[in-house]
Amino acid sequence: VWLVGVGLACNNRCVFCAQGGLSAPSEPDPRRALEAAPPGSVVAFVGGEPTLRADLAELVALADQRAAAIVIQTNGRRLAYRGYVDELLAASPRVSFEVALQGSSAPMHDYHTGVAGSFGQTVKGLANLRSARARAWVTTVITRSSFRHLVDVVRLSASLGATAHALSPAAALGRAAEAAARVVPAPELTRPHVERAIAEGRRLGLRVITHEPEGVAEGFVGLGEVAPRGGEAPLVSREEGRVSLRVASRPNPGLGEVRLRDKRSGDELRAILPMLFEDQAGPRPGRG
Ligand code: SF4
Repeated sequence: VWLVGVGLACNNRCVFCAQGGLSAPSEPDPRRALEAAPPGSVVAFVGGEPTLRADLAELVALADQRAAAIVIQTNGRRLAYRGYVDELLAASPRVSFEVALQGSSAPMHDYHTGVAGSFGQTVKGLANLRSARARAWVTTVITRSSFRHLVDVVRLSASLGATAHALSPAAALGRAAEAAARVVPAPELTRPHVERAIAEGRRLGLRVITHEPEGVAEGFVGLGEVAPRGGEAPLVSREEGRVSLRVASRPNPGLGEVRLRDKRSGDELRAILPMLFEDQAGPRPGRG
């Protein structure tokens, strides 16, 4: 996986952000990074939030000239605009999306991201990807505030057409390092919930994984389904000068152990907000 950093700017303020408090040593040059990408590699655009760049579609088109597959790692908020999704897909048919979903309800997700309304946009973004028949998978960081709700998060991502779902415990990095006691969960407490989430994913036909990735490639759970072009194995590398990023370990927050009385399951959400689940092109094969 060839990581192309596009900057640390983000429109979320996740309490668990591994990059919280970091500043880039210099302005990233994604075009230069793309020129250095080995032909046939998997190119992953990482931030911050890549969709904040006005030239992301141009960068995707550039990557399309040499990459076997392209991944955009995103919080999914801008994908709520269907025209923008279409623009990215037009730039490359090989583009796929790794979308961070931090809860099964607006209060849970928005609490973790620190932005009111972010849940609605991210869910709408996933619905748009499904409607556009784009490949998308979901990542969720397990925090002290979310570990009891993993089954519901998995149900929601399955209902939104995700091809896989990665669950990773929050790590004491970035903002989470300052609040580890209230963010980072104890493994012995999370384990039964993770096992239930994996079992629920199996029941729903959704691959759910959880692990501490050994390297960057293992962090991109959806890449297991990407066939490299030209039979070349994807390369694992790190962009020069960039802090190593463990995608599946992106931390989630957990401030003050919020107990949400209005927590909704994916099925309940579908009943309440059916427009979020509308599939203009009809359901995907194999997904209801
Ligand atoms: S974890 Fe990701 S979405 Fe959240 S603030 Fe950090 S870069 Fe943004």
